[in-house]
Amino acid sequence: MGLLFLGCQGRAPDGLALVGATLIDGTGGPPLPDAAVVIRHGRVESVGSRAAFELPQRTSQVDLSGRWIIPGLIDVHAHVTPAVAWAPSRYLAWGVTTVRDVHGGLNSVIAFRRRANSDVGHSPRVYAAGAMIDGLPATYPDAIGVNGENDARKAVDRLVSAGVDFIKIYTHIDGPLLRAIIDEARTFNVGVAGHLGMTDAIAAAKAGITSIEHLTGVPEAISRERSSLIAAHYRGFFPGWTSFARSWAELDAGALTELANRLAQEKVTLVPTLVLHETLSRLNEPALLRDPMLKDVPQEAQRDWDVPGMVTRARWTDAEFGAFQKSRSMQDLFVRAFAAAGGRIATGTDAPNQLLVPGYSEHREMELLVGAGLTSREALRAATRNAAVLLGVDSLGLLAPGKVADLIVLTKDPLMDIRNTRSIEAVMSRGRLLDTDSIRASW
Ligand SMILES: [Zn+2]
Repeated sequence: MGLLFLGCQGRAPDGLALVGATLIDGTGGPPLPDAAVVIRHGRVESVGSRAAFELPQRTSQVDLSGRWIIPGLIDVHAHVTPAVAWAPSRYLAWGVTTVRDVHGGLNSVIAFRRRANSDVGHSPRVYAAGAMIDGLPATYPDAIGVNGENDARKAVDRLVSAGVDFIKIYTHIDGPLLRAIIDEARTFNVGVAGHLGMTDAIAAAKAGITSIEHLTGVPEAISRERSSLIAAHYRGFFPGWTSFARSWAELDAGALTELANRLAQEKVTLVPTLVLHETLSRLNEPALLRDPMLKDVPQEAQRDWDVPGMVTRARWTDAEFGAFQKSRSMQDLFVRAFAAAGGRIATGTDAPNQLLVPGYSEHREMELLVGAGLTSREALRAATRNAAVLLGVDSLGLLAPGKVADLIVLTKDPLMDIRNTRSIEAVMSRGRLLDTDSIRASW
């Protein structure tokens, strides 16, 4: 990090003026060139152009000419638990200043969140679902399996009492259970995120679900194979995912576009996790296992991933990977149509699951969203303001007076090429400038 401080106005500075950069504020609006952004007490105090700027009292100034400032990034589909205690510093070094945990076991995640949220400079801010709610039999042993609508409401009550920020539901939740969960969650003003299986995307959206993860429930809404897809979800994660991921290639483009339009009207947020789809469709490619970015993941964690073991358990052959890859263009078509219809998309990654590097995967997700047809501005908004709107937190994902001072300083223009979000010179988390070089040196 080579930021040049230019002195200070007044004694004992408690503020910092970032002057001269092009500001991309997260709204998706046009960038502000030659900006002056003042940060004080962890918040953005003012935003304006340099021409009209006068350095306030007690404020240091740093020259950011030739740089770009974007809000801190938000990954709304992560799994943070004490078992991956190495992950938070990776997120921060990559400029991901907020993550939404979508399942990691109830008590462990709540404890993790408490630590993370008081550990400024070492961890992103964490919003947590704790344990997800599933139908019976629960797909994962640390999920809360519910038997009937009363039980489902009690599970929501228990999670809210434990302090979760939102509810996550899993593949065995059917329509009646989903409606009960959403109704109960609404009384506590918490949202519901869904990895769908028994329920299709349009039914879930009409029931009032807040976000749909991984584009689940989309093929189920329009495929002629609907009943066999639902049966596969019932059998378990791998059979369900395999049938779902294969099924896209056979979908009708017109029906998919029409469904995208209807879903956009329902105001549901999509968390496509294209980086997960892309990764799982290429697990048979040696280049993927040798991605240089994997250097950010400790050897032990890479061993825990056991990619060959997972492929064996899933019974994925080259034929499956070929089918998954054929599906990718239809997923892109759907994402493009949903965005064109005004639908809200937010970035999620599923990190740190197999081969999904915490932090870096967020940048890959933005790149894949642009590959699907979004503009760079839209991809940035998906990773900032849209993600904050999904979290229901107005102070995040936007660089405007009063908002939290989470931001990234870039040396290259991310609107020219979305991959330039990786040209990170400095990260500010909750008003504190972090030295990403020394974070990396500590790994
Ligand atoms: Zn996940």
